[in-house]
Amino acid sequence: MYLSELTLKNFRNYEDVELSFSPKINVLIGENAQGKTNLLEAIYVLAMTRSHRTSSERELLTFKKDTATVCGTIERKLGKLKLELILSRKGKKAKVNHLEQARLSQYVGQMNVILFAPEDLSLVKGAPAVRRKFIDMEFGQIDPHYLHNLSQYRTVLKQRNKYLKELQFKKTGDLVLLGVLSDQLAAFGAEIIARRLKFLSKLERYAQKIQNNITQSRENLTFKYESSISDVSGKTVDELYSRLKQYFAENSKKEIFQGTTMYGPHRDDVRFLVNTKNVQTYGSQGQQRTTALSVKLAEIDLMKEETGEYPILLLDDVLSELDGERQTHLLKTIQDKVQTFLTTPSLSEVTRQLIDDPKIFRITQGR
Ligand code: ATP
Ligand code: MG
Repeated sequence: MYLSELTLKNFRNYEDVELSFSPKINVLIGENAQGKTNLLEAIYVLAMTRSHRTSSERELLTFKKDTATVCGTIERKLGKLKLELILSRKGKKAKVNHLEQARLSQYVGQMNVILFAPEDLSLVKGAPAVRRKFIDMEFGQIDPHYLHNLSQYRTVLKQRNKYLKELQFKKTGDLVLLGVLSDQLAAFGAEIIARRLKFLSKLERYAQKIQNNITQSRENLTFKYESSISDVSGKTVDELYSRLKQYFAENSKKEIFQGTTMYGPHRDDVRFLVNTKNVQTYGSQGQQRTTALSVKLAEIDLMKEETGEYPILLLDDVLSELDGERQTHLLKTIQDKVQTFLTTPSLSEVTRQLIDDPKIFRITQGR
């Protein structure tokens, strides 16, 4: 799929712009603080209804404005799709072909994007929460059931944690209700873990291939899912459900004492191993960067496999982070495959020659 047109009104430093893009590589060139990332952010928001760099919608509105509009035309195999997102201080509205969607979860998934920015190094170096967020965002985009189970899981988790706190203070309480909540949580949790395992093993295969290409087979990348309910590999949904229930039953005293749910997918993590060693602790800076890039690029292939279409790739300031060889490989991997938006303060002649027929935009102060 690709984004053919984009209109922005009062989005960050763009008061009013209309752009049309190439289905191949679009290069956004501009000095610092001109609006390159803002433009990528707008495309990301159009797809996901929320920003990758802020949870506060207000920040997205141009200073002193009340409403922002992001509007785009997506060309997909099945035809054209018009997406519109209206952001205001009161909330947001999403429309598909002029029809307002009752739920944002119905809207997300129409347009698929993959974003890679310098801070994505935290995918490898950061806390487990960073990797869980990555997994949830990416798998949620390709699987509506994943998204559904996740939102149900979060709702029940909140209730269960609240109830555990009550029990912690009251010392006595209705353990039947805790059992009911545990049951529900186990059911949604099992679905989430099972889907994570399925998608991660597919993602691992693609990432491995890419890492092999970049490093000329010197680095073998593998994933390891680390669950709070110990080894879960190869387990069915039913087995995971029983395991979670068992953990909740056996540890209720501990959980009441802590006043929080200590087991389940919200406590899980995934490790990236290079030549069987955890790259987070043993990897060099370059290996960590390559790993983050391989995992992100693997998403392109996974999305194609799951949705039948390639997503749109957003690369924020990535070239400056990579040496010449890796730049070449990256550009080769995406060339002719996916529509790409690439930001950079400047484009060297060498890099430019690597890109086949780029459309170049020069950005100055939101224009
Ligand atoms: P760099 O090369 O440094 O990454 P960039 O071109 O990616 O720069 P952006 O992050 O896209 O820069 O834009 C930053 C500019 O946008 C800042 O100068 C900031 O003042 C402006 N800006 C951010 N939010 C808003 C807003 N809500 N309203 C108006 N302007 C904004
Ligand atoms: Mg930027």
